[in-house]
Amino acid sequence: MEKENMQQIYSVEADSYDCIGCAIAKGELTPPGGTIYESRNIVLAADPEVPIPGFLIITGRRHVNSFSMLYKEEWMEIGEVISKAERAIKNLGLAQEITLVQEERSKHFHIWIFPTKDWMIEKFGRGVSSLRDISRYAMENATGSDWEEVEEAVREIRAEFYKGNYEY
Ligand SMILES: [Zn+2]
Repeated sequence: MEKENMQQIYSVEADSYDCIGCAIAKGELTPPGGTIYESRNIVLAADPEVPIPGFLIITGRRHVNSFSMLYKEEWMEIGEVISKAERAIKNLGLAQEITLVQEERSKHFHIWIFPTKDWMIEKFGRGVSSLRDISRYAMENATGSDWEEVEEAVREIRAEFYKGNYEY
């Protein structure tokens, strides 16, 4: 695949599904660099639309929109995966600070694991209110090498994710 076209291809793919969450959950949409972790409950992968290394999404397998609709097995696993993903991101130096977002207005349950980086603080500030501007900026300024960095980060996070022998 031509690296310059990767950003468009991922975005076009993402736009072409009725529910991008279901597309990821069913394996119809391959996220950048492939999945990091998956089980019968959830998929952990890089965001397919916003090229920020270390920006991950947990997507539920089921088409529901709320934490309150998850089975205990699902939300317990989500907690474990968030903990491991955050530690991997921080151990790799991809961010010192993480912002988690889950919006019920999205019809398919997913959680953003959003890394705060120095350039984001300098340009847009910290916290939830800055995430939309940061995402838009990253998408508008995306290059093929940005997507290569995302894929490289996925490889590193995957290795770190499985390396950690965490106790819960
Ligand atoms: Zn869905």
